[in-house]
Amino acid sequence: MNNTIYNLATIGVQQLIPYKAGKPIEELERELGLTEIIKLASNENPIGPGKKAIAAIQQALAGLALYPDGSGFSLKQALSKKYSVSSEQITLGNGSNELLELVARAFLTPAHEVVFSQHAFAVYPIVTQSVGAKAVVVPAINYGHDLEGMLAAVTDKTRIVFIANPNNPTGTLLSQESVERFISALPDTCICVLDEAYFEFVSSLEAIDSIEWLKKFPNLLITRTFSKAYGLAGLRVGYGLSSPEMADILNRVRQPFNNNTLALVAAEAALNDEEHLQETIRVNASGMLQLTEGFKALSLEWISSSGNFVLVDLKKSGQVIYDALLRKGVIVRPVGNYELPHHLRISIGTEAENNVFLKALAETLNNV
Ligand SMILES: *Cc1c(COP(=O)(O)O)cnc(C)c1O
Repeated sequence: MNNTIYNLATIGVQQLIPYKAGKPIEELERELGLTEIIKLASNENPIGPGKKAIAAIQQALAGLALYPDGSGFSLKQALSKKYSVSSEQITLGNGSNELLELVARAFLTPAHEVVFSQHAFAVYPIVTQSVGAKAVVVPAINYGHDLEGMLAAVTDKTRIVFIANPNNPTGTLLSQESVERFISALPDTCICVLDEAYFEFVSSLEAIDSIEWLKKFPNLLITRTFSKAYGLAGLRVGYGLSSPEMADILNRVRQPFNNNTLALVAAEAALNDEEHLQETIRVNASGMLQLTEGFKALSLEWISSSGNFVLVDLKKSGQVIYDALLRKGVIVRPVGNYELPHHLRISIGTEAENNVFLKALAETLNNV
């Protein structure tokens, strides 16, 4: 490595640990020459995108010579209608990850601190360090966010607090009441980013009503995505809901054409495909049951999850089991980088995929 160039980077970037994505199927095919590979590693939708999204993409193909609508007018209208917010409260992102980056770029300097939980989503430290701000990591309680501890960590330097609800990779869910209380207690100089990438999977019993809070918290940014429940991870569409003031700031730093034409039309169509969403939620709930029953049969413990994935406790190196599963053509996610070296994160698959995984896991546990 050219050390001179390395030393020219900001300290935060020098110390930044790059995001490690789930292993792509094609990569494992190349490496091991396997053909029947299943990937339960990136919380993608196992039933794929919906028919309406695919039809919208096909219709839009002929228009690809033109730049996309940089304002995302039509998708924003659809979101506005669905969630009863005004278009001025919406910021579209190239995946919701882009929203996380926009908020960091717009609001943080090296003088600021950012508070988030241990075991929280890996993108928070990346966006924090890339702008030179200081990450303040608060120890988790029972794998979930310790909101009281996080509040205690907020100082007059804290400009952003990230909360993932449900959290990835742990699947833990905070009560709406506790989150609302937390945001109320924040100083109004501190922005709360409420990352709800998995909110569609949360059961109606625990109904998420964070959008209501936008009326009283101008410092709240809710981020959501089309990558998980809507099955459009490959297109990269996410959105932020906030006060119009916050959306105005985020839209200033956003690249003008950050969402491509196909992504815009597919997301809009997906939003109106209630049947696909309900089927996704149904497959997820039954798959979650199937996997946890399977863990029980193997005498394994897991962390109760509100998302479309589950963390299983292997009581030994997750990386070793991960490698053994790879050789059987099953890609899951090691979470040692989240300080969870004995767990693996399993995305819920179809019934058939879950069966393949459980069988491979049982064989692997018998052999290591
Ligand atoms: C998957 C995920 C996201 C964002 O994914 P995008 O594809 O960028 O929308 C954001 N937050 C959490 C916690 C996630 O797990």
